[in-house]
Amino acid sequence: MSPRLSRPSLSEALAAAAAAYQAAEVIPHCAVCAKPCCRLDKLVLELEWRQVKVLWRVDESRPAFDRRLAAGGGPAEIRAGNGLYYAHSKPCPAYDEAGHACRVYGQAVKPAGCSDFPVYEDGGSVVADLRCEAVDLEVLAASMARALGPAWRIVRSADREFPFLVTLSVRPVAAAGGRAGQGYSRGRRQK
Ligand code: SF4
Ligand code: SF4
Repeated sequence: MSPRLSRPSLSEALAAAAAAYQAAEVIPHCAVCAKPCCRLDKLVLELEWRQVKVLWRVDESRPAFDRRLAAGGGPAEIRAGNGLYYAHSKPCPAYDEAGHACRVYGQAVKPAGCSDFPVYEDGGSVVADLRCEAVDLEVLAASMARALGPAWRIVRSADREFPFLVTLSVRPVAAAGGRAGQGYSRGRRQK
């Protein structure tokens, strides 16, 4: 394996930077958040069947649950589609409102989307969701710049349809000798 390929990929470095930002700037704020995302009043929680079964304490089979859901028998906050389930408009049953905490934190049943929100790596960029009041784009961009080094610059763009979603892409800084941006191999899905 060449030395270049053994270096961490840009995607991996961005994922690590996003995780470090969440740990340092977002998670400490959750305990005092004015609009917790786990209330699901703005966000939609994507769930697999096993997660619905555990979090909603469903004791019937999946076909029976699906039939009940389709017949309007609830839970009213869950919709089914594409083999998955989507919860919205009522607090997640795993949310401890008094303690402002997730009761399944660190457990396999916790949906992946919960860990990604509000900052995550996607296709060689970092996406920040401004529906989280703890997100500060200046601090996030500075944190990414520190993690990647001076060979890269951060470029921001808001989603046209959902402007609260901001993508922070990285571009190599032009430098003499064509060595700009070295140090990371590019992720497969980088645009
Ligand atoms: S919206 Fe942000 S700060 Fe508030 S609970 Fe969710 S992740 Fe934490
Ligand atoms: S599983 Fe935990 S983190 Fe995810 S929405 Fe429910 S309470 Fe929040």
